[in-house]
Amino acid sequence: MAICEVCGNDYDKSFEVVQRGETHVFDSFECAIHALAPTCEQCACRIVGHGVEADGRMFCCAHCAQENGVRGLADRV
Ligand SMILES: [Zn+2]
Ligand SMILES: [Zn+2]
Repeated sequence: MAICEVCGNDYDKSFEVVQRGETHVFDSFECAIHALAPTCEQCACRIVGHGVEADGRMFCCAHCAQENGVRGLADRV
């Protein structure tokens, strides 16, 4: 058993996520997304899918990247 590092819930089905060599413990994907998912620079939503990366910046979709002046991107779905 492990305690979720976001909400403190002690849950027997908690899981670990390793990001950049650091191990994080969560009780739900919602908490994992809250802690680990990047944020779209255009609309500030959490990037849960693949997202789009351009010039080191993260966007949730090609549309948001274009709104930010990034050209030549298409959604890779
Ligand atoms: Zn939690
Ligand atoms: Zn967006």
